[in-house]
Amino acid sequence: MNIHEYQAKAVLKSYGAPVANGAPVLSIDEVEKAVDQLPGPLWVVKSQIHAGGRGKGKFVESAAGEKGGVRLAFSKEEAISHAKAMFGNHLVTAQTNKDGKQVNRLYIEDGADISRELYLSVLIDRATGKPAFVASTEGGMDIEEVAHSTPEKILTLPIDPIAGVTDKDSEQLCDALKLEGDARADGMKLFPTLYKAFTEKDMSMLEINPLIVMEDGHLRVLDAKVSFDGNALFRHPDIVELRDKTEEDEKEIEASEWDLAYIALDGTIGCMVNGAGLAMATMDIIKLYGEEPANFCDVGGGANKEKVAAAFKIIMKDPNVKGILVNIFGGIMKCDVIAEGVIAAVKETNLGVPLVVRLEGTNVDEGKSIIKNSGLNVIPADDLDDAAKKITEAIKG
Ligand code: ADP
Ligand code: MG
Repeated sequence: MNIHEYQAKAVLKSYGAPVANGAPVLSIDEVEKAVDQLPGPLWVVKSQIHAGGRGKGKFVESAAGEKGGVRLAFSKEEAISHAKAMFGNHLVTAQTNKDGKQVNRLYIEDGADISRELYLSVLIDRATGKPAFVASTEGGMDIEEVAHSTPEKILTLPIDPIAGVTDKDSEQLCDALKLEGDARADGMKLFPTLYKAFTEKDMSMLEINPLIVMEDGHLRVLDAKVSFDGNALFRHPDIVELRDKTEEDEKEIEASEWDLAYIALDGTIGCMVNGAGLAMATMDIIKLYGEEPANFCDVGGGANKEKVAAAFKIIMKDPNVKGILVNIFGGIMKCDVIAEGVIAAVKETNLGVPLVVRLEGTNVDEGKSIIKNSGLNVIPADDLDDAAKKITEAIKG
């Protein structure tokens, strides 16, 4: 689960991390009050969406002006006018799709005098199976470029989960970030603080980009992106409260209620599969035949007829779907159950797009004959290759 920057900063602040004063704006009439709460002389108006790259982003609507989703203001009037220009409009960043995300919340924050912008994150390092810090002096808006062209400028430091962050670890991070004087003293306190927040709140990622050294020599958390491990949310009701469902795909929410894994993508072919590996293979082969997946819905190992039907309906809700490929390996799950679910859902939804079904595994013959005898316009496929070929041809009509 993801949360907004202003919420992440509140969580980090509660642990004692250095965060600027700021005021969230949840409706347009709160703008003046929020700006008034901060003394100036520099205000920063920040779009709150669940996507990074806001500073370099662009709004779709011309009313929002040419500037990005993070704007500096040197007077209250300017801050208010930036806020009004952004609110309600759609911000496109490197991490959104081409339609962008509607900005329904803003964060107005005290401006900082920045001397250096650093990069710092905590994540689970799969290679070592430990939490790890990632640190670089090259923070700011182009960390992906740094990782690509000068990876030697990035330090990955695994943390022993038994010992936690030791002074030696903190020293090493300070060195990597070239912290001296007050900034170094701040760093020695900050790293264990962030680690504590990360582990206690079951975060899966905590990214601070940038962490800044200010002109006065101290550190400040200037941006914060936090996501939480969904499997641990049951023990954090305070975090669950922060969920902003308007940032999530409506179909993904419905899918999570059925315990289905649904992922929305940008193409035209809806995919119903079981298992992440089969999902990847299905998407790869669709691409190989020149088309793109619109989504995939993983019905998992033990779905029943109702769950399969629900999955099918969720896939159909995406208006970009021009065809559906069902690709299921019946292991624990039986092919005849899948076939019944698919047929029931097709009847209910008055399917208007081509449907290719490829089944393999337990009770495959029963499954195939259910589909064949249904009298519905379903295209059977023999293997993965055949299925991909048939669906990509079928949507060309
Ligand atoms: P994003 O990563 O989504 O682009 P950031 O919060 O990192 O958004 O902001 C982008 C840039 O805007 C930062 O790298 C920094 O230069 C500037 N910025 C953000 N917040 C402030 C602030 N409070 N004071 C001064 N500059 C800021
Ligand atoms: Mg940032």
